[in-house]
Amino acid sequence: MKAIYTFGNGQAEGRADMKDLLGGKGANLAEMNLIGVPVPPGFTITTEICTLYNQKGREAVVEMIKDDVMKSVAHIEKLTGNKFNDPSNPQLVSVRSGAPVSMPGMMDTVLNLGINDEVAETLAKKSGNPRFAWDSYRRFVQMYGDVVLGMKPTNKTDIDPFEAIIEELKEKKGVKFDTELDVDDLKELVVRFKAAVKENTGKDFPTDAYDQLWGAIYAVFDSWNNDRAILYRRMNQIPEEYGTAVNVQAMVYGNMGNNSATGVCFSRDAGTGENLFNGEYLINAQGEDVVAGVRTPQQIMTEGSRRWAAMQGISEEERAAKYPSLEESMPECAKQLVDIQQKLEEHYRDMQDMEFTIQDGKLWLLQTRNGKRTGAAMVKIAMDLLREGAIDEKTVIKRMEPGKLDELLHPVFDKAAVKTAKVMAKGLPASPGAATGQIVFFADDAEEWASRKKKVIMVRLETSPEDLRGMSVAQGILTARGGMTSHAAVVARGMGKCCVSGAGEIKVDYKARTVEMGGKTYNEGDWISINGSTGEVYDGLVATVDADLSGDFAAVMNLAEKYSKMDVYTNADSPRDAKVARKLGAHGIGLCRTEHMFFEGDRIKAMREMIIAPDEASRRVALAKLLPLQRGDFEGIFEAMDGYEVTIRLLDPPLHEFVPHQLETMRELAEETGRTLEEVKLVCDGLEEFNPMLGHRGCRLGNTYPEITEMQARAIIEAALNMQAKGIVVKPKIMVPLIGVKNEIQMQADIINRVAQEVFAERGETVAYKVGTMIEIPRAALVADQIAQVVDFFSFGTNDLTQMTFGYSRDDAGKFLAIYKNLGILKVDPFQVLDQEGVGQLVEMACRKGRATKPELNLGICGEHGGEPSSVKFCASLNMNYVSCSPYRVPIARLAAAQAAVEAE
Ligand code: PEP
Ligand code: MG
Repeated sequence: MKAIYTFGNGQAEGRADMKDLLGGKGANLAEMNLIGVPVPPGFTITTEICTLYNQKGREAVVEMIKDDVMKSVAHIEKLTGNKFNDPSNPQLVSVRSGAPVSMPGMMDTVLNLGINDEVAETLAKKSGNPRFAWDSYRRFVQMYGDVVLGMKPTNKTDIDPFEAIIEELKEKKGVKFDTELDVDDLKELVVRFKAAVKENTGKDFPTDAYDQLWGAIYAVFDSWNNDRAILYRRMNQIPEEYGTAVNVQAMVYGNMGNNSATGVCFSRDAGTGENLFNGEYLINAQGEDVVAGVRTPQQIMTEGSRRWAAMQGISEEERAAKYPSLEESMPECAKQLVDIQQKLEEHYRDMQDMEFTIQDGKLWLLQTRNGKRTGAAMVKIAMDLLREGAIDEKTVIKRMEPGKLDELLHPVFDKAAVKTAKVMAKGLPASPGAATGQIVFFADDAEEWASRKKKVIMVRLETSPEDLRGMSVAQGILTARGGMTSHAAVVARGMGKCCVSGAGEIKVDYKARTVEMGGKTYNEGDWISINGSTGEVYDGLVATVDADLSGDFAAVMNLAEKYSKMDVYTNADSPRDAKVARKLGAHGIGLCRTEHMFFEGDRIKAMREMIIAPDEASRRVALAKLLPLQRGDFEGIFEAMDGYEVTIRLLDPPLHEFVPHQLETMRELAEETGRTLEEVKLVCDGLEEFNPMLGHRGCRLGNTYPEITEMQARAIIEAALNMQAKGIVVKPKIMVPLIGVKNEIQMQADIINRVAQEVFAERGETVAYKVGTMIEIPRAALVADQIAQVVDFFSFGTNDLTQMTFGYSRDDAGKFLAIYKNLGILKVDPFQVLDQEGVGQLVEMACRKGRATKPELNLGICGEHGGEPSSVKFCASLNMNYVSCSPYRVPIARLAAAQAAVEAE
C-alpha cells in the first residue's frame, strides 16, 4: 500500500481524480502542480492510512509510515534547499487535513511547524525581519496549542486562552491591532503562550520538529472523530469510513512584511452566481487572519473594492488610502492571480474557491476546490457555463444538488415593504435571501427555540464550527465581524441560509443577551429581518412575496424535463395546492387525501352524524349530506389539473379521529342528531382503539361500511362527468388504501365499478377511470401478483410501509429515532429517506410481481419519500411511472428524476 504521495516543482504522484485517496485538498494540490500553477512542495498521507489509524491504533501506523514520512520530508528539503529540524537552515511546514469531501469541523491547519527558539533566531537573521520570525513563532504556539494540544475552548462564552493573552498585552501597550505589536512584544507572547501550555497540559511545549510533526499528524487523524466532524458527516450524509488525508507542505509566508499577503478568492460570485472574480486579502498576514475577522479584509479586485466601500458607506478616498484592492497594492500579483483563477476554472470547468499567499512579491496557490454556493448561484453558474460552452446539458443536471433548489422557491422581501422598512444596520450581503425571526445569540438556544417551532435569527460577533447546529435551524445569521469569506458567510452559503456578515456597527453583548443597532437595544426574542442580498438589517417583521421561477431556474427545469424518464406528480388535497404544484411542474396528482376535506367548516358535523349513526339507513342519510360537498371538492381539483391524472384515495384514517373528544362538543352533537349524550359518548368511546394505526382504518372501513365507498365513488364519478361536460379533460384514478389481502381490494373494486356503472346509466354518459391500490402493508407487497389481477395501478405508501416493516410507529418514533441516529444504529431517519436495503426490497418485489401479472401495471409512490432525492432515484431504478410529493418538493423530485436518467446512461 502506497502511504504517501509527493508533489512539487510541476510534478506530482497524485491527480485530481484521486480525491478518495488523497482527499480533495491533496488531489487538487497534485493537479495544480501538473498544470503549472505555483504550489509549495509537499506530500499527502492517504485517507487509507487514517482508516488504518482508527482500526489499528497509533503505534502500528507510525511504524508503517515512519520511513515514508522521512523520505517525503527529504523531498521537500531537496526542492527548497532548506532542512527540517535544522536550526542553521530551517524548513518550516504547514499541516492540514483534507477529506474526500470538504468538511468544516475537522482540524484545519497548523502553520509554521518546525519552529523553536533557535529556529526563530535563524529565521530572523536570514530574513532580516525579526518581526516576521517571532510573529510566525507566536502563531505556531497558538495554533498548535489550540488544535493539537486541545486548548481551544469548547464552551460558548469562554475565549481562547491565547487570544486572552494577546488582548491583555494589546491593552497594556495601548494598541488595537496585532500588527502594532513589536518584536519584543511578540517574544513576550511566545514565552507567555508556552507557559499557558505548560499550565494547561502539564507538559513543556515540544521543541523538536519531528515531535511537532507527529503531534500534528495525530491531531488530524483524531479530528476525524471529533464531535463537530461527526455531526457534519451526519448532517450531510458523509460516510464514516472515508477518513481524512494529511497534507504537509513547505511554508510560504504571507507575514513577511508589506510585500506579503494572504487571501481567499472565488472565480465567480458564490452568493449570486455572477461571473465576477472576487475575493479578500490581508497584507502582512497569515492563513486564518482573513477568515477570522480580526482585521478588515480588503478586496482583490478594484471593482469589488468599490462595491464593498459603497456598501460600507466608505468614501472613495478612504477606500483607496486605507483599503486598496490587490490590483492597486500589488498589481503584478493581482494580474497573475486573475490568470490563474481563470486557468483553474477552465481546467475544472466549475467555479473555484482558492487560497493563496504572496511571499515577498511571489504568488503561491495553497488550495483550490469547487466552491460552495447558494442554490441560486448553483443554477446560474451551471447555466452560464453551459452557455459559455464549458459544460453540456447533462453536466448541468449532474451538477445540481436537488435539495438546494428549495432555496429558490422561498419567498423574498416584498419590494414595497422593504422601501418602508426601518434599516437598523448594514453589513455584507454574505448569503442571499430574506429572513425574519426572533433574535437568539447561542447555537443551543437556536436549536431549543426552533424545536418549539419558533423562527430565529442567530446574532453573533462571529461564528465558528461550534455554531453549526444552531445555524442549520436558524432562518438566518447576522454577524458583527467577518467578511464575505468569514466562517459565517461560507457556511451559510453552503447551507443556502440567508446571512449578513460583518455588520460592524452592531454591538453584541453575549452576557446581557442584547444587541444594539441603529440606536435601539434589542433583547433576545425581539424580531428583526435581514436581507442577505443587500446586507440590510431591518427592524421587526418585513413582508415577503413568492419567488420568481422564471429565467435560469426555468431553464434548468426544462432540462430536467428533457432528460428524465419518470414523471412527477404531487400530493394535493385542494385546488389551491394543485395549482401551486402545477406551476412547479407537477404532471398530475398522485395522492389526494379525502379525509382532510371533512374538517373544513361545517362538514365535520355531517361526518360525525354518519359515524354515530346507529344503522345503515341513518348512515346513508348522513352520507347523502356529504356527497355534494365531496363532489364539489373533486370538481375543483379536476379543473385545476385539467388534462392530468388525479388520484383520489378513499377514506383512510380511523373514525375516532373525527369524533369529538370534549364533553361540550359531544353535547352539541347529541342535540344536533337528536340522541342522548350517553348514546353519543358510548359510540365515541367505542371507537377508541389500542393501536389505531393498525386498527379499523383504510379499506377496512370501506369493507365494513360499503356505503362510505359508494358515496365517495359516486362523488368522484359525478364530479368527473360534470367537469367533462364543461370541456375539461378528466382522468380520475380511484385509490383504495391499506390493502393486505386480495379480497379486500376485490370487494372495494366491485363496489366502485358497480357505482360507476349506475352513475353512467343515470347520466347516459361515461368517463374513463382507473381503480388502483396503495401498497403500504408488507403483505400486500408479498402477494402483489394476486393484487395486480384486480387493479390498474399500485401506489407505494411508503410512510405506512416503513412503519410496518420497521415496526416503528409513525407517531412515536420521533422519541427514539434521534437517539438511534446519534448512536449510529441508523444513519438516517427511514421516514425521510427510503430504506432501500429493507423496505426497498418489498417495493422492488411488489413492482416485479405486479408487472409479472400485468405488464402494463402503472406504478408510483406517494409516501413522503417521493420528494427525497435518493429515494426518487431508487424509484427511477425500478422503472416506476411516477413519484408523487408535496408541491414545493416537485422541482427537487423532477431534478432527481432527471439525474437518475442521466446517471443511468
Ligand atoms: C403512506 O402511508 O405512505 C401514505 C402516503 O399514506 P398516509 O401517509 O396518508 O398514511
Ligand atoms: Mg398510508
